[in-house]
Amino acid sequence: MMAPASYASLDLGGMRVTTINAGRFALDGGAMYGVVPRPLWARVTPPDDRHRIPMACNCLVVETPHECILIDAGLGQRFDARAREIFDVDTDSSLQNGLSRAGIDPEQITHVLFTHLHFDHSAGALTTVADKVRPTFVNAQHLAQDGEIDDGLACRSIMGSSYVPSDISLLRTATRLEGISGDTEIFPGVHVEVTGGHTEHHQAVWLRGREQTLVYPADLLPTRHHLRPYWIMAYDMFPHETLTVKHDFIRRILEQDCIVAWDHDPLSPFSHLRKTPDGVEAIDIGTMP
Ligand SMILES: [Zn+2]
Repeated sequence: MMAPASYASLDLGGMRVTTINAGRFALDGGAMYGVVPRPLWARVTPPDDRHRIPMACNCLVVETPHECILIDAGLGQRFDARAREIFDVDTDSSLQNGLSRAGIDPEQITHVLFTHLHFDHSAGALTTVADKVRPTFVNAQHLAQDGEIDDGLACRSIMGSSYVPSDISLLRTATRLEGISGDTEIFPGVHVEVTGGHTEHHQAVWLRGREQTLVYPADLLPTRHHLRPYWIMAYDMFPHETLTVKHDFIRRILEQDCIVAWDHDPLSPFSHLRKTPDGVEAIDIGTMP
């Protein structure tokens, strides 16, 4: 059941965390960096001729003695030609391919934990089989914050296309999509913490093994470039909350010297953070699968 150690995975002590390349796509650079002027962000992430920058969907599989938990499910494969073109979706990388390269069978997944229900974090939990949309993880209980499920169903978002309410309804009826209420330890060592900012009920996941702690801040800190205070996605519902909460998160990550797993960074799955005279930088560990 354990993924091979040579893969992009880490043993935290009684808990193995494996990064899964669940797809590559591209988003408008301006939208990814909000108020930051283009000459600044274009220097660190050169855009293509349509102003898009490369994005990864890095999901995590957490193997504990009793659970095999997938954190986020990526953007899936159910795109029409137009969406594929707009988002420059790489059809060769997918959640299923990523899991199979890591030696993990979808049937092994006992839980799917969503940080939030935007399509690029949840659509991969559903798959089209013989023209019917079905759950990808047939044995898994699916979990998200209660308020996030309500917001997703009501499409409460700054952009109409961020949520797919029909997907969320289907997840509720066809899987056991259950609500979590606030900050809690859902399994031993697996803590969720509501951050707000990106969506009102967006949550980060802290994984506390015997030897090491890893945090998956999800869209609070989607890439290393978002370590800078004002580099905040224009997709965020509450950007000022992102500003204050991520400042506190970075302080705690540095204090605890824990590992960060990036959800959208295409360069590396895991990093340590280090304070520099100009701010905070990411020191990569592991290689992208
Ligand atoms: Zn996202």
